[in-house]
Amino acid sequence: APRIGVLALQGDVREHLEALESLGALALPVKTPGGLADLDGLVIPGGESTVIDKLARMYGVAEALKARIADGFPVYGSCAGMILLADTIADPTTNMKGEPQQSFGGIDMVVKRNAFGRQVDSFEVDLAIKGLNTLPSQDPGRATEPVRAAFIRAPWVESVGESVEVLATIPAENTPLGMDGTRVARIVAVRSGKLLATSFHPEVAGERRIHELFIQMIRGDA
Ligand code: GLN
Repeated sequence: APRIGVLALQGDVREHLEALESLGALALPVKTPGGLADLDGLVIPGGESTVIDKLARMYGVAEALKARIADGFPVYGSCAGMILLADTIADPTTNMKGEPQQSFGGIDMVVKRNAFGRQVDSFEVDLAIKGLNTLPSQDPGRATEPVRAAFIRAPWVESVGESVEVLATIPAENTPLGMDGTRVARIVAVRSGKLLATSFHPEVAGERRIHELFIQMIRGDA
């Protein structure tokens, strides 16, 4: 079974451990650089990206993880995890010393934090996601069911580079009105090499196919 870590500094660690275990992976909470050593992949959970960034730098995990990402290590980031995998954060929070929050990076994209605004702070929506039709749990020849996606003070992806494949876009009707009074469809799931990121939480509604896709990526089957 693949050994998959869940970065356990802050956020919804337990839900990801359960999701991975239900799919037959060996799931391990990780807090230290040493904990990363013998893993086949890592999940960065949702939570608060500024806090995870700060603790990861404090424990030396940030540096170790950046090096592994540069080496092709598979990582799935959900919500705050997506922010931490972005090469660029559009609106980084600065700490009391005036230093902006940092990301581990790896995906050539610009991510906007808390993008859905107050009125639609948290919501769930059914989304069509690319790349689920070849999963082992999927009946061949049958249409892929939409994914029930929970957005909780979620980011969206403002732009992606050429190396990034867009897996899902949330329809304009589910996004807030912009300054110009229109709504725009937004990117909410991407893949770049062995890195996978979603704006939403699949684990809270019992959805397992995003984790299943990640395990397929680790195995080299997707
Ligand atoms: N708004 C959070 C952040 O910027 C992310 C929220 C989440 O992970 N559910 O880190």
